Amino acid sequence: MQRVNAGQVWRKLGAVPGLYVHIPFCARRCPYCDFAVSTNARADFRDSYVAALQTELETALGETNLRFETVFFGGGTPTELPATTLGRILASVLPHVAPDAEISLEANPENLDLRFLKALRAGGWNRLSLGAQSFDERELRVLGRAHDAKKIENVVRDAKTAGFQNISLDLIYGAPRTSLGSWRTSLRRAIALDVTHISAYSLTIEEGTAFGRAVSRGDMGAPDDDFGGELMDEAAQMLGEAGFERYEVSNWARMGFRSRHNANYWRGGDYLGVGCGAHSHFEGHRFWNERDAKTYVKAIQTQGTARAGEEWLTPRQRAVELVALGVRCRDGFSLEEVSQTGAFDARAALNGQLVALIATGALREESERIVPGAQGFAIADGLAARLVGQF
Ligand code: SF4
Repeated sequence: MQRVNAGQVWRKLGAVPGLYVHIPFCARRCPYCDFAVSTNARADFRDSYVAALQTELETALGETNLRFETVFFGGGTPTELPATTLGRILASVLPHVAPDAEISLEANPENLDLRFLKALRAGGWNRLSLGAQSFDERELRVLGRAHDAKKIENVVRDAKTAGFQNISLDLIYGAPRTSLGSWRTSLRRAIALDVTHISAYSLTIEEGTAFGRAVSRGDMGAPDDDFGGELMDEAAQMLGEAGFERYEVSNWARMGFRSRHNANYWRGGDYLGVGCGAHSHFEGHRFWNERDAKTYVKAIQTQGTARAGEEWLTPRQRAVELVALGVRCRDGFSLEEVSQTGAFDARAALNGQLVALIATGALREESERIVPGAQGFAIADGLAARLVGQF
């Protein structure tokens, strides 16, 4: 594959809304996780990775006028790196960031204390996304997490003391041993922490993970879809009553605290991703880096780029993405934007299905957009399949 210098691509770009920075390190691999992570990495390899990341950033940002509206440090577990190292990486990015940018960091509670959190806040992060996963001690152990429920509560308190006003909690439902009661407890304790954002994801069993192997051997049952639906409905009910807006199938926010970074992905927006396995997108041109951390570092050291592949989406593929992602979001999709991909006249292509789905209440037309109806989130994947089946 032809290797393209990142600077050659990014020089052409003006404003790009999102920057994603991937930090792959984790203390251990959780039994359900198939992400590109690096466990037990030695200190010298971590240093090499950070150096490679900075090289990639300098190349991409050095000769451009990029101005990011959101920055997201994700992983892996970014907080496996010291706050000073994270701060150094962010400092190199800040000249390219809009003054009111959302700057998020994904973190696991076990790494954090008040001092670390104060250093992060001083470094420029204004949003913290905590991998809480559950407030039930048994579930936390089954999920292989190193923190307990009390630690989550202490970290949220310390984060507020450190000056974070925008805090998100990730929760997982459907783990082995979850009951409706334990899920309600997790939701109640998350709500009681008065955070601004909560994500609730269904446990998925991926091949090659410890859970995947346990399910294949018959040692563990696969998640039950009907029970999963019940747990999701419970989340919708409790979070709605607590004043959170469901703005995507798995995401709830207080007014004004939607994740701007993720919303950009769901709108089919542009973003630059740096680090191993990171993906980028600019107006239908998608490209991605080597997934393995060691391969990534070597490629940057020897070739100045770790590009592993790229593709140009066809107008039809872009239209499919806008519709499939849009029906999962409160703001839905715009027929005009789908038509602007050049694939087809969206209203003409979708009309039969739209009339039928609007008649059942699954979809609504609102301010020139097609948005999910009251029950639409629960059946979003089915809606997407029916609509894109028309293209
Ligand atoms: S901490 Fe997150 S990224 Fe790391 S292994 Fe666990 S689930 Fe995967």
